[in-house]
Order: sequence, then C-alpha cells, then structure tokens
Amino acid sequence: MRVTFLGVRGSTPAPGEKFVRYGGHTSCVAIAHDGEAPSLLLDAGTGIRRTSALMNGEPFRGSILLTHLHWDHVHGLPFCDASDRTDSRVTLFVPDQLDGSVPLEVLSRGMSPPHFPVRADELRGDWSFESLTASTLEVEGFRILVEEIPHKGGLTYGFRVSDATGTVVYVPDHCPTAFSDGPDGLGEYHESAMSLCQDAEVLIHDAQLRREELAAEAHFGHAAVEYAVELARRANVKRVVPFHHKQSRTDDELDAMARQFDGDHVTFATQQTVIEL
Ligand SMILES: [Zn+2]
Ligand SMILES: [Zn+2]
Repeated sequence: MRVTFLGVRGSTPAPGEKFVRYGGHTSCVAIAHDGEAPSLLLDAGTGIRRTSALMNGEPFRGSILLTHLHWDHVHGLPFCDASDRTDSRVTLFVPDQLDGSVPLEVLSRGMSPPHFPVRADELRGDWSFESLTASTLEVEGFRILVEEIPHKGGLTYGFRVSDATGTVVYVPDHCPTAFSDGPDGLGEYHESAMSLCQDAEVLIHDAQLRREELAAEAHFGHAAVEYAVELARRANVKRVVPFHHKQSRTDDELDAMARQFDGDHVTFATQQTVIEL
C-alpha cells in the first residue's frame, strides 16, 4: 500500500512563503495498492487537485470517501482534473446525515447555486453517489472500517483502511473533549477511536491544536497533537502522523512542534510525505 499526502492543512488553505514546506492545501490523502495508481482518495480538500500528478495522464478510476462535509474536506472536488473528465469513473461516498436525504441532496446543499456554479451531478465522467454510515466496506480492494467520530456540526466519520500489506487509520477531524476531558485533560480515549486504531501501522490524526490552545479554540471541534500521540501509544500504533495543521501555523512553528516528539515514532505530515507499507 502507498499513502500519498496531497493536502495536510486544516480549516482553510494556507498560501504564502511561511507555509511552503508543509504545504497549504486542505485535507486529501491518496491510497494505492502496490505498483498501481491510486484508487482511493480520502477527503476532497483542495489537495485533491494534485491527484492528476500521480495518474500519468490517465483518468482517476476509483472511490472518494468523505469523512464529513465541512468546506476544507470538499472544496477541491470540482477542481480535480483527474476525476472531472469524460473517461473518469468515480464512486463518491457521502456521509449520511441520518435525516432521510439521499447523498446527492446532502452534497448539493453546499455545491449548487447560489453557493457554487456547478452541481456534483454535472461533473464529467461516470459518477455514482453512495451513502456512508458506520459499517465495514469492501472498496477498490481495500477493507474499510467506518466509525462515527465526535467533531462538530454534522456527522463525521473516521476510516481504518487495510489491504494485505497493512493498515492505515485516517481521523482528520476529531473532538475527543466532546465526551469528557479524559484522564489527561486532552479528551476521552473512547471506543470508536480505539477500535479504529488498534495495532495499525499508521495513524493520520487531527493535530490542529496544542494542549495549551484547547480551551480557547474548542469551538471548532479539534484535537491537540498530544492527544494524537497518546492515542497511538494506547492503541499500539507503530507511527502517528499529525495532520490537519492549523491554518496559521508556519513551517518554523511546525518544525518546533515536530522536535518536541523526536523519537516517539511521530512524522508530521507535509505535502511531500509518502508512506509505503
Ligand atoms: Zn477539517
Ligand atoms: Zn471539520
């Protein structure tokens, strides 16, 4: 399995010279079976535009799974050249809001006039829209466990993606303090998070905040990097990848955060990160 980070920023893109090394694109991760082009995209933040560079001119043929529908996880969808072309084939999994709406209706609340000129069913290629709920799926040759994760504003899911080579867990937006302060004040190490993470090779996790920022910035519903590292330790995860960096966090500030965890099997996500399992 090959995991390619296409966008690692949280909340809103971060252009500018202070953000070049970690990158300013919002959440998107591409997953490929060994020796193949990516067939699975997790989230459709602005980083999804970089998918084309992985496709050698070929169209994207695979599935896109959205963890939730906040702007930073869907805004790239209409701008992905590899999927918006006549010979693409895309199954888009849209988080079910459990209100009886079909997936295209849910997506269209944000992606239709007057918010946006193009509707999802106007994208070029062979698109289908599926509902995503807590379950176990077989998608593009991957086994995927989907669990609901506390965040804020609409239902949010986390994914555990496995093939024969290993397991990657993706939890980009997570507010564990929604349940309780937990044993260390960082939030609860709750059952959904633990069952997603247990014994995985890699955990890609919300690191929007630092411990000391939690109280003042709780209203956006995110986790502290210290929680991500401790969750990985408790769940016996080999490597944790802090992700969804705060929009104002500069390269130098992220370097300083990364140094704090030297030797703890921590790899801060950048737009250049590629992990082979
Ligand atoms: Zn987000
Ligand atoms: Zn969010």
